[in-house]
Amino acid sequence: FTIVDPLTGEGRGVKFSDVAGLKEAKQEIMEFVDYLRRPNFYSSLGAKVPRGALLLGPPGCGKTMLAKAVATEASVPFFAMNGSEFIEMIGGLGAARVRDLFKEAKKRTPCIVFIDEIDAVGRKRSSGGAGGFDGSTGEGEQTLNQLLVEMDGMGTVGGILVIGATNRADILDRALLRPGRFDRHINIDLPNLIEREEIFQSHLRNVVLEKPPETYARRLASLTPGFTGADIANVVNEGALHAAREKGKFVASEDLEYAIERVVGGMEKKSSALSLED
Ligand code: ATP
Repeated sequence: FTIVDPLTGEGRGVKFSDVAGLKEAKQEIMEFVDYLRRPNFYSSLGAKVPRGALLLGPPGCGKTMLAKAVATEASVPFFAMNGSEFIEMIGGLGAARVRDLFKEAKKRTPCIVFIDEIDAVGRKRSSGGAGGFDGSTGEGEQTLNQLLVEMDGMGTVGGILVIGATNRADILDRALLRPGRFDRHINIDLPNLIEREEIFQSHLRNVVLEKPPETYARRLASLTPGFTGADIANVVNEGALHAAREKGKFVASEDLEYAIERVVGGMEKKSSALSLED
C-alpha cells in the first residue's frame, strides 16, 4: 500500500475545489471531514461515528480525487491500496497485508484508508461454489474476513475512516454493507453537461489558451456526452500535445476537437475489444 501524507507526499494538495462538479457527493463526504476532525464531539453525545464510506460509480469520475481531497481538507494521512493487488495472493498473504495496513493506519490516526476496486476483495463470499474470487483456497474469503475484523476492531470512537471505491456494488458481500462498516454510500456518476463544462474549465486552466477557458468549455462539453472526468483530462492533454506538434503558440479549438476525435476513437477500440472478449 502507499501512504500519502497530505502535507508532504505525492498527491498532496488535491482540494475539494479541484474536484469539478460532484456537488452532492462533495456535500455528503464533507461530513466525514468533521468526523475525522472532531470524533469526540460526536461520541460525547453517544453517537457512533461512521467508519466507512463507499464511493460508487464508473472508473475515472473522480472517486480517488475525492477521497484524497477529504484527506487534504482534514489534514490527515492517506493510506491507499487497490483491491486488485490481492487477486494473485496466496497463503494468507492478502489477510496479512490488510492487517499490516491497519496496523500502520492505527499509528497515524486520524487518517484515511482508501481501498480502490474494493469489489476485488469484497466479493460475495462463496455460498456453494458461487462468489469469492478463489473459493477453492478461501484466500479471498480470508482477506475479506480480515478487512471486516479490522473495521469492527476500530472501536466506536473514530480515528480511521475507510473509503472504498467500486463500480460493482452489486457483487459486494453484504457483510461489508452492514451498519458500522460501509454503511454510507455516495454515488459518483458520469458527469452531465454542466459538470463536463466545469471539468473542462478546471483542466483547461493548466494549458496555454488564446482566450479564457470559459470560452471553450461549453462547446467542448456539448461534444462529449458519455465522457468521464479522466477522458476530459485526456482530451485536454492530447489537445496540448497536438498544438505542440503543430508548433502552435497556444492550444486552439481545433486541437481540442481533434483530441476529442482521438479519445472517441480510443473508446470505440476499447469497447469493440471488450465485446470480442464477451
Ligand atoms: P478509478 O476507479 O479508475 O480509480 P476514479 O473514479 O477514482 O477512477 P480518479 O482517479 O479520481 O477517478 O480520476 C482520474 C483523473 O480524471 C483525475 O486525476 C482527474 O485528472 C480527472 N478527473 C476525474 N474526475 C474529475 C473531476 N470531477 N474533476 C476534475 N478532474 C477529474
